[in-house]
Parts: sequence; C-alpha cells; structure tokens
Amino acid sequence: MKTIFEKSNGVLGITFTDEKEDLSFLDEKFLRKSEAGLPQVGELQAMRHYKELSDKNFCIEKGFYPLGSCTMKYNPKVNEMLASLEGFTNLHPLCDDSDCQGALELMYKLQEALKKITGMSAVTLQPAAGAHGELTGMMIVKKYFEVKGEKRTKVIIPDSAHGTNPASAHLCGFDIVPVKSNDKGQVDINALRELLTSDVAAIMMTNPNTLGIFEENVLEISKLMHENGSLLYYDGANLNAIMGYTNPKLMGFDVVHLNLHKTMSTPHGGGGPGAGPVCVTEELKEMLPAPIVEFDGEKYYRYSSMKHSIGNVKGFFGNFGVMVKAYAYILMMGKNLKEASENAVLNANYLKEKLKGAYLLPFDEPCMHEFVLSGEKQHHENGVSTLNIAKALMDENTHPPTVYFPLIVHEAIMIEPTESETKEVLDEFVDVMLKIAQEAKTNPEKLISAPHTTPVKRLDETLAARRPDLCFKSGIEK
Ligand SMILES: *Cc1c(COP(=O)(O)O)cnc(C)c1O
Repeated sequence: MKTIFEKSNGVLGITFTDEKEDLSFLDEKFLRKSEAGLPQVGELQAMRHYKELSDKNFCIEKGFYPLGSCTMKYNPKVNEMLASLEGFTNLHPLCDDSDCQGALELMYKLQEALKKITGMSAVTLQPAAGAHGELTGMMIVKKYFEVKGEKRTKVIIPDSAHGTNPASAHLCGFDIVPVKSNDKGQVDINALRELLTSDVAAIMMTNPNTLGIFEENVLEISKLMHENGSLLYYDGANLNAIMGYTNPKLMGFDVVHLNLHKTMSTPHGGGGPGAGPVCVTEELKEMLPAPIVEFDGEKYYRYSSMKHSIGNVKGFFGNFGVMVKAYAYILMMGKNLKEASENAVLNANYLKEKLKGAYLLPFDEPCMHEFVLSGEKQHHENGVSTLNIAKALMDENTHPPTVYFPLIVHEAIMIEPTESETKEVLDEFVDVMLKIAQEAKTNPEKLISAPHTTPVKRLDETLAARRPDLCFKSGIEK
C-alpha cells in the first residue's frame, strides 16, 4: 500500500479563501520559509486512504482477542458517548467546586463504588495507568514507613509477577526480593517465611496470579506479612476474576490498584488514556495524592489536606473521561458485575479443558479468568515454537494470546477469553487451536513461515522497539 505522500497528486481537498491572512503579529522567526510539503489529495481519496489503513488494524471489533493479563473485552460503545458529553469535555479543571458539582459527584460516587468493590477505605483516581498506580501505591508504602520512622528497604515479589511490579518498586528505591512459586503455581509459603526480615516493607501480589490461579494461602500470607510489620500490595489490574465474590480487603491487603482500562469499560491496547486508581485502608488514607473528592451531605468538594500526602502523581484529577466510562459501566452492570466475573472464569475454564489435551498445561488446576498453556510439546516434537503458533493464529483472524509470559512457564501461551465472548466464538478458537496443533505434526513448515495473510510478515520486534523508523522521507519537502 502506498503512503499518503506517494498518493499526493496536487488535488486540493479543501478550498481556502484568497485573502492572505495577516500574520504580522507573529515574530518573523516563527514564519515558514518554505512550503510545508504536506501531501495533497482529494477528500474522497483521503478518506479511502485512511479507511484502508484502519482496515489493516486488528481490533476487538474484528475478531477474538484472547490476550492474557490484558482483558481485551468488548466495552459498551454508549459509554464513549457519555464520556464525550459536552458538559464533561468542556469543563476546566481549575473551575470552582460550586461550578462542577456534577463532575465531582461522579468522581465521588466512583470512589465509593471502587471502595465497595475492593473493600478499601479511601481512593485516589489520579494515576493514569496500572504501572502508574503501582508506583503511587509503593510511594504510599514508602511514606507509611517513613512516617512510622522505620527503615524498610525490601519488597518481595513472586516470580510469576507482572513485570511492572518489580519495575515500580525498584523505581521507588526498594530492593526486589523474588519469592518462588511451588508446584501448584502458587507462592511457596515456606520460601516466603525464610525471606521475612525486619527490613521487608511489603509483598506485591496478583491474586489470581498471572497463571490465573487463586493463591489458596493468601490469608496465611497476609497474616505472616502483618506479623512481620510489612504491608501487602494487591495488583488488581484484572479484577474481573473476583468482583462481587471476594475482595482484596478480605484477603488482607492494604493497597490496591485497579486498571479501569481493563476491567471497567475503557478499551485499551492502542496506548490510549487509561486510569489506575489506588485504593487503600483507613491507615494509609493520609498518604494519598491530593485532591480526593469528599461530600459533606450537601456539596461535593475537593479535599487536599492529607497530612502525609505523597504529593501529586498527575496533573489535576487524572484521566477524567476514563472515570466517566467506568462509572457508567458500574451503574449499567449493577449486581451483574458479579456475573461478569462468573462468565470470565467460566469461559477461561471452558477453553482450558478443551485445549489441555493438545497442548501442555503445566499447572492443571481450576483457573480463574485466564490460564497458561505451554507450547513445549510442539516445540520439542515438531520444531514449532510458541511464536510460530502465535503467528499462525493471525492467519485465522484471531489475535494471538500473550506469549512467553509469565516467565516461569517455558513457551508460555497465556489465554484470557474475558466475559464478553460467546460459546460460539470460544468453540471457533478451540477449533483453530486444535487445527494448529495438528498442523504442527503434519505441516510444521506452514506454521514456521506464518503469517501468510497479514500486510506485513515477521517484523524485527527488537529493532522496531529500539530504533523505530516513523518518519517517511518522501522527497516532497523542499
Ligand atoms: C496490565 C497489567 C499491569 C500494568 O497496567 P498498565 O496500565 O499497562 O500500566 C500490571 N499488572 C498486571 C497484572 C496487568 O495485567
């Protein structure tokens, strides 16, 4: 496909008036010396060009997207409309509390809902993403011990953890101490006991963990940690596994972040705005970033006088549009939030049972919202790697699952169907996965050279990340 620069044919898609604009108010140095070199095509051509480009994108609207740990589910489009209501989008963050009661009410009620869902006592909506929430949470942990006058430098993190966990704790100045998983894919509690010294600030856990397995010993773990004077951090990026069934507070956690852009209706994956609210126990409320929204029975107001606030982690409130979508979603779902968790878990278990014969299932346990297969059998017997399987799925109008994560599973294939897919879609995915497992035996070459139908084939992912070449040099610019 040609770029828009190559398609440029000098046709003006827009008519300007002949009048020269008076630019004398601009300093000479800001004025362009030569033409901008923009491509020129007619309106229809421009439209077709961008439509064709967008058709090359894979998205949830196009097919199944079982990306583990990412919760790529269908998000109601009506919530996008609500987030773009003029009353919200035209609001200035510096306007007086009395002039934005509606927006403050929405934020307050969202805080209340998140408190209920997590069991926690206070919430900041400021962080812009999951990892940002982790950083905020760990800064709160750090502040907590500072205020107590305790020097604690270590954070324990299971070897199955999402990579952002150690990164966030490290960014906060903590030393990372890994704790290994046992043969059930859960934190090895005896190994954990050995690590508990008086300089341990916290443990960061995901529950269900990234293998999709619920940590059965979580209550014992929280007891151990608290007896050691340490705190527990809960990575709640994928809360759709437990909503309404249990919550981090009941499990004994002190700090939680949620990904509104995974669990609560904001589509993600394209790098758009997200939100990673952090919920804490009463004891940690005074450390939250300011402002939070309070209600005095009559008015909603911004409250910023937390005694030990870690300071702001983002301008103003965070990504307000994402909050609108999350609040609308929670209201729309009501008690059915519980049902969303039920379906997410049911769908994952259904796929796991259907696929575990053809692929290796390293931890054969009931799973929560996701599970992790291994492509080791195909790799070992047929020379077909997990990467090959992922590429072959692209030829089947299916987004590949997360691969090679978590790190503790060789040739990992991490599958999360989410709650929003039907049995028909799941069955089609099963058929495709079984077909690929069969082809690995009969025609491995086809898989090794996949994908065959995508606009681009195998990209050098390292080079693409390290040295992205994003600038088209057309020769048009003069
Ligand atoms: C997605 C995810 C994160 C990070 O969230 P971002 O919004 O991408 O920063 C952290 N932990 C887990 C378990 C996740 O799935």
